[in-house]
Amino acid sequence: TGALRLVLGDQLSDGLAGLRDLDAVRDVVLMAEVEGETGYVRHHKQKIALVLAGMRAFAARLGERGVTVRYVRLDDPDNRQSIVDELARAVEDLDPERVILTEPGEWRLAEAFRAFAAECVAPVEVREDDRFICGHAMFQRWAEGRRQLRMEFFYREIRRRTGLLMDGDQPEGGRWNFDAENRKRLPASIDTPSRLRCPPDEATRAVIAMVQARFEDHFGDLDGFGWPVTHDQAEAVLADFLKHILPGFGDWQDAMAEDEPFLWHGLISTALNMGLLDPLAVCRRAEAEYRAGRAPLNAVEGFIRQILGWREFVRGIYWLKAPEYLRRNHLDADRALPWFFWSGETDMACVADAVTQARSHAYAHHIQRLMVTGNLAMLLGVHPDAVDDWYMVVFADAYEWVEMPNTRGMATFADGGIVGSKPYAASGAYIDRMSDYCGGCAFDVKARSGPGACPFNRLYWGFLERNRERLRDNPRLAMPYRTLDRWSEDQRAALVREAEEARAELGAVKPG
Ligand code: FAD
Ligand code: SF4
Repeated sequence: TGALRLVLGDQLSDGLAGLRDLDAVRDVVLMAEVEGETGYVRHHKQKIALVLAGMRAFAARLGERGVTVRYVRLDDPDNRQSIVDELARAVEDLDPERVILTEPGEWRLAEAFRAFAAECVAPVEVREDDRFICGHAMFQRWAEGRRQLRMEFFYREIRRRTGLLMDGDQPEGGRWNFDAENRKRLPASIDTPSRLRCPPDEATRAVIAMVQARFEDHFGDLDGFGWPVTHDQAEAVLADFLKHILPGFGDWQDAMAEDEPFLWHGLISTALNMGLLDPLAVCRRAEAEYRAGRAPLNAVEGFIRQILGWREFVRGIYWLKAPEYLRRNHLDADRALPWFFWSGETDMACVADAVTQARSHAYAHHIQRLMVTGNLAMLLGVHPDAVDDWYMVVFADAYEWVEMPNTRGMATFADGGIVGSKPYAASGAYIDRMSDYCGGCAFDVKARSGPGACPFNRLYWGFLERNRERLRDNPRLAMPYRTLDRWSEDQRAALVREAEEARAELGAVKPG
């Protein structure tokens, strides 16, 4: 055998670095479904079905090109059930001249590959994953010497480099950011758009049946499975989004509505993260919609900012700061994750909806992840490991490089301000402003204390008081701390007691 080339479940791209210069006659591509990956996190059933169905479809695609694929199924009796052990078995069986890997998306696997390379009898080449717009060296150069790493400045740099939405050396429309126009609440009269989903084909149905039987006790339902598993399906979802949905993306970007999981969001994170869509190509096509006058600038800029800005930025942070980042707990959060995060059995209408749709669709949009479940976990003081575990389990697009900086960074401030400049802590008023949840909720969003008051309100001030030492000097929190400082010591102690009672009632207890 010439080269043995490994393709992981999130590396399903035709242009993958590790598949370049492939010799279809002599080389073998290895793809392996292993328990090590399906089980290291107890992923949502839809996530497992999605990745395995995507892998099988990609192996078939390579096969059509005449490439030899060594495809190891989960139930293969010879399967050693870990990526590295399957690599070793393939080397033993095929005796390749060399092994070619594309760098994985997680620190854990990168370490395992380093150890494998040191032991392997054949030379091992690990290629940089260049499916990102900003490579490691470029991010390091950008970060070097900066006191603070802020997405906004990173984003501007990448806009300049790519020329996306630029007018000469100025941003299109004279501003880098149209966020102020993208915070509209959904009017009751508006019809939400119907969304293109991908009903499973026969091959995917077979995977779904296998997942149902083998991973029955994992979180989530399989009935609503609608994720693209092939390049063609991903392209169809993107094309539908660009044509029908993108024009409304900006206006309703931060809005939430009960029983409306998708609204005007792209539903493309799973496809991007698995390699079925290319991020730069997606941005260029969104820009083309603006240039052709089919979508307004606030929508297109808002959308491009998510991919060119946030997605690239968090990936840069992950690799810059790992592995230390993976253990950060700046607020010393130590509570258990309340059970209702899994069961959805809570009277908090906003949380119940987020959990219910996570169960049915393995999806929640950004504001639900940030301002409902993330905000609540932070106010409760849930340990970051438990928060990470929840996000990794419940969402079909969860991979550590993107999940962790969002969760430990943006949502819970466990990183102490590397990703975000302040904790996104908010009382119920924010959720009330951006959604229709509170009207039908058992709790009173206007009340501040007592068992009937919105738990976000009961927790908010106590959270600030509890973390006074760590957060007091944050300039972006000057206002709420000034408010707190106007209150007497007794009043502040009462706020802490109120929050403690709410934590206990909601089940955010100290483990053990
Ligand atoms: P849209 O709203 O249509 O956005 C378009 C695309 O922009 C997304 O597909 C995604 O690729 C990218 N994007 C948007 N926001 C972010 C962001 N903050 N970071 C990185 N990329 C972004 N995204 C994941 O892909 N995997 C995760 O595990 C994940 N965990 C998250 C955890 C928390 C606490 C938070 C606050 C956000 C998380 N996100 C994660 C980011 C974001 O919520 C999802 O990418 C988005 O909801 C996916 O749905 P969409 O494709 O409809 O996105
Ligand atoms: Fe959520 Fe509070 Fe509103 Fe209920 S009142 S929906 S808990 S924000």
